[in-house]
Amino acid sequence: MNVLIRATAFAANKHRNQRRKDADASPYINHPIALADVLANEGDVADEAVLVAAILHDTIEDTETSMEELVALFGHAVAEIVAEVTDDKTLPKAERKRRQIEHAPAISRNAQLVKLADKICNLRDIAACPPANWTGERKREYFEWAKAVVDGLRGVHPVLEAAFDSAYAAKPSASSLA
Ligand code: NDP
Ligand code: ZN
Repeated sequence: MNVLIRATAFAANKHRNQRRKDADASPYINHPIALADVLANEGDVADEAVLVAAILHDTIEDTETSMEELVALFGHAVAEIVAEVTDDKTLPKAERKRRQIEHAPAISRNAQLVKLADKICNLRDIAACPPANWTGERKREYFEWAKAVVDGLRGVHPVLEAAFDSAYAAKPSASSLA
């Protein structure tokens, strides 16, 4: 039984009608796969629970998936990591973003790894294939918020933190008209 492939098939099905926010409306599943790729192949992370949680990280937040479903199919350890990186969607957006900064230092090391990979991938996406209609200022705000989250978990994985810093270097300049 290959759990990583099973999780990928599960997430692909859950996200099957969703698209990323870039102009090409890329398939949603590209993003969770990118996180697992960053963790495994740039960060040398071999812990299966972390890689599986990366694949599943947006299922509770963005699809009809319950914690119970993840526990039943992938076990407590994986489900707990996903829960730790899931925003409370009943809260206003600004409060959710504030809480991510506040909680980053306190979540488990495994959840910090998934969160770090998520921020790396989203900054790379904003640089290469940004949400359609985002201004330069909106991109800058996102870069700065992502850095505030990552600054709260520094020390968890220096190689991936360096990858984040490289991605952050692409922050649009204040004068950018993009
Ligand atoms: P969103 O949360 O709406 O969009 C960013 C999220 O979209 C990412 O975290 C990522 O989440 C997902 N995503 C999907 N496709 C892409 C892609 N191609 N590139 C990068 N990310 C992608 O935006 P904000 O994070 O900016 O949240 C809204 C906040 O922005 C509010 O708090 C508000 O204050 C502010 N705002 C600012 C405006 C401005 O013009 N400055 C206008 C409106 C709001 P995931 O990993 O979960 O998929
Ligand atoms: Zn994500």
